[in-house]
Amino acid sequence: MSRGVLGRLSLRLAHEVLHRAEPVMGRLVHPQRLPWLGRLPAMPEVGSLRSPARPWAPVVGEAPGELRTQPGIGRLPDDEDRAARERPLHSFFALHADAVAVVSGHLWPALVSVAPRLVRSTQALVASRAEPVGARVEEDPAALSAALRSEATALGISAVGVTAYDPRYQFAEFRTGDEVGDRVIVCILEQNHDATRRIPSERSEQAALSTYAQLQDRLVGLTRWLHARGYTARAENYIGESMFIPYAVAAGLGQLGLNGQLLTPHAGSRCRINVIHTDAPLPFDEPVDYGLEGVCDRCQACVRRCPVGAIPAQRREHRGIVKAKLNTKRCLPIVTQAAGCSVCMKVCPVQAYGLPAVLEEYERSGEILGTHTDALEGYDWPLDGRHYPPGEKPHVPAAIVRPAGYAFDPDRVDPPSGHPVLG
Ligand code: SF4
Ligand code: SF4
Repeated sequence: MSRGVLGRLSLRLAHEVLHRAEPVMGRLVHPQRLPWLGRLPAMPEVGSLRSPARPWAPVVGEAPGELRTQPGIGRLPDDEDRAARERPLHSFFALHADAVAVVSGHLWPALVSVAPRLVRSTQALVASRAEPVGARVEEDPAALSAALRSEATALGISAVGVTAYDPRYQFAEFRTGDEVGDRVIVCILEQNHDATRRIPSERSEQAALSTYAQLQDRLVGLTRWLHARGYTARAENYIGESMFIPYAVAAGLGQLGLNGQLLTPHAGSRCRINVIHTDAPLPFDEPVDYGLEGVCDRCQACVRRCPVGAIPAQRREHRGIVKAKLNTKRCLPIVTQAAGCSVCMKVCPVQAYGLPAVLEEYERSGEILGTHTDALEGYDWPLDGRHYPPGEKPHVPAAIVRPAGYAFDPDRVDPPSGHPVLG
């Protein structure tokens, strides 16, 4: 979405003013001070901050054969097991605790406005873990599954799926021995479309954080519903104690996109994910090949449009997983200095139009809907206030790509000692 000359000027000026306030505001909005922000009044969830909160209809029909690859993520099981054994996964916030202050400093405009709401929803979620579990009524698993999905719909969750708990996806900091059950309920909430079209901007960052808060409220509701039926249930918070995307793919809710994000058939990656661990005997869902990897191979819009070329065009094996490995060393400084960036989400046709429309166009013309058009691939860049149509990208100076005093080592495998674990 191009804002016009005045809109881009205000985007640029607002970004400059907010950037100049970073030295002071970044210190105030450090993650360790977020509980204090929970006492402030919250920005109302109106307009583009509000999730559509509509349940997604089941996907009907199949993708053409040439778009299909495999259900689930391509993996080399032995290599994946070895990586999990020898180099267990850590939370980003533990592994890169030194970068967190820098990240939160740059994102203060989004954090300061949404943090009160986000903090309160996180506190309610943590409190829900300790609420009493009722007497168990034995239920037929299929009936329990139908009742769970009906409750999720009533709560305004866009989609749920169930898969097996996998300790390989649990961050080492959170393997505390109090894990709950052998199942994971993956919950997804759609993010507002208009806010996502305004990427990159502070407004779209606010919408992302606000959607996390709205999803946490719904997880509290679903946790209480499980407790009332006699099942233990423990919701993770939005920061995450495990890798959400592999769970979501295993539960059939989408496939892994070239941009490294979960692509759902309904909204691409324009959604937020969270999980509830439970011992409820829910039947497992299966991974589904929606043809999304085939769409990615023919689309490549995120690869073309990333301002710093951080997304590779080809997948390769990493820790036993076959994926396009994002260059986080190039990406993270842009995320922190360009209003959260996320151009790779904005330009994705599955995010913008949904998979059914993309497949319809592909079957009609052999093209991926919207690619090479300004409506999809164009974006306004907050660092210079210019609009970049397809074929043009901003020049990102070295001072932005490699900012002074910015310590971030993407190859680090063990957290530095002495940093608190957030979560
Ligand atoms: S922009 Fe295209 S290549 Fe990138 S994730 Fe979306 S569909 Fe896949
Ligand atoms: S967030 Fe921006 S810099 Fe990072 S991969 Fe996406 S488009 Fe590239």
